[in-house]
Amino acid sequence: MKATVMGLLDGLFAAACNPGLPRRTGRRILPVPKGDAIEERADMVVVGGGIMGRSIARTMIGHGWDVRTIDDADPLNGTLPCGGSVKPSPLTGIPPEEMKPILDRLEALYGLHKERFQIRPSMGMVKADVWQVSMKSVWAAPNVTRGTVCQVDWKPNYPLVWYHSPNGVLHRVTAGVAVVTAGARCDELFPDVFPPGTLYAKQGISFRFPGTVEQAWVEAWAPYKQVTIHNIDREDGAGWETWASDGTALLQEGWGPEREEACLTRIRKGLGTAEEPRLRLTGLRPFHRLKPKPCFVQQLGSATTILTGAGKFGCISAGWAANHVARTLGVS
Ligand SMILES: Cc1cc2nc3c(=O)[nH]c(=O)nc-3n(C[C@H](O)[C@H](O)[C@H](O)COP(=O)(O)OP(=O)(O)OC[C@H]3O[C@@H](n4cnc5c(N)ncnc54)[C@H](O)[C@@H]3O)c2cc1C
Repeated sequence: MKATVMGLLDGLFAAACNPGLPRRTGRRILPVPKGDAIEERADMVVVGGGIMGRSIARTMIGHGWDVRTIDDADPLNGTLPCGGSVKPSPLTGIPPEEMKPILDRLEALYGLHKERFQIRPSMGMVKADVWQVSMKSVWAAPNVTRGTVCQVDWKPNYPLVWYHSPNGVLHRVTAGVAVVTAGARCDELFPDVFPPGTLYAKQGISFRFPGTVEQAWVEAWAPYKQVTIHNIDREDGAGWETWASDGTALLQEGWGPEREEACLTRIRKGLGTAEEPRLRLTGLRPFHRLKPKPCFVQQLGSATTILTGAGKFGCISAGWAANHVARTLGVS
């Protein structure tokens, strides 16, 4: 992995693993761009470097586009804790016959491998194969510019994207196309598109334990909630380890250290261990009130698109979104 990518990842993982992360209280008001800006150009600007933005950027780079991805490494981004499972479910709204182009896209971008899960409790009798996206590969590319986007002017045919780099310098990118994949924070950039309550976030957590499990497994403990255990390739190249989550998804007001401990207790019980996880990764899944399938898409003018609201189906939504953008731009 390139040093810059690892640098970004180190920062992200360190921040996400920091217990007692600040809780986001309401919508942040982004500053209005003022004063001189450094002028830049790109064929496409992608705002937000989670799995949605990375998949779109990588797809278009593959078609020879000059793509600038801008991300501010939010420690609560939804992609860090993601387990990479491509969860086929009627809840995605994608009929089985329409899954193939999505799987093809994910395979082309990241590589897919099949993992056999034991469904518990079934005495090992019931098993299911689940496609897994390599999360290591998701983080490996493209290169991302660190910065906070404070405004996207979408009215003209060429969108203008304003961002502050970490040292506070203002930049303005003139792009042929802008794609906004800022996860649960799209409403900060587009309050008119997302009146209060339309875009909301549910917090969840995954854990990483040293060593691997012989058998991946899943066991429901409440409606729509299941403990899932499988192996995952470490982003830092240090080999495989165990990924574990209990599917808890709560509005931020309901989240706290006691919830986190309850998730860990459930996982430890399932794994039969008292071991400390190597990582605790907390993040926000973005949801849209209308439950669009598989995610929310809004076109603004001829050249700006917002895509968010992937909820629990980040991988399927990312593959679908990359295909959608490529098709809209006539390059698929
Ligand atoms: C515990 C857990 C396990 C999960 N497991 C799975 C799984 O196995 N399979 C699956 O399909 N899904 C899973 N999900 C869901 C999936 O992770 C999310 O749906 C997905 O990550 C959402 O991706 P995104 O790109 O839309 O948003 P995000 O990952 O949140 O990315 C948005 C990015 O935008 C950046 N940003 C926001 N505003 C700005 C701004 N103004 N300027 C610059 N940057 C900005 C943020 O820093 C962030 O990096 C899981 C989620 C959790 C919490």
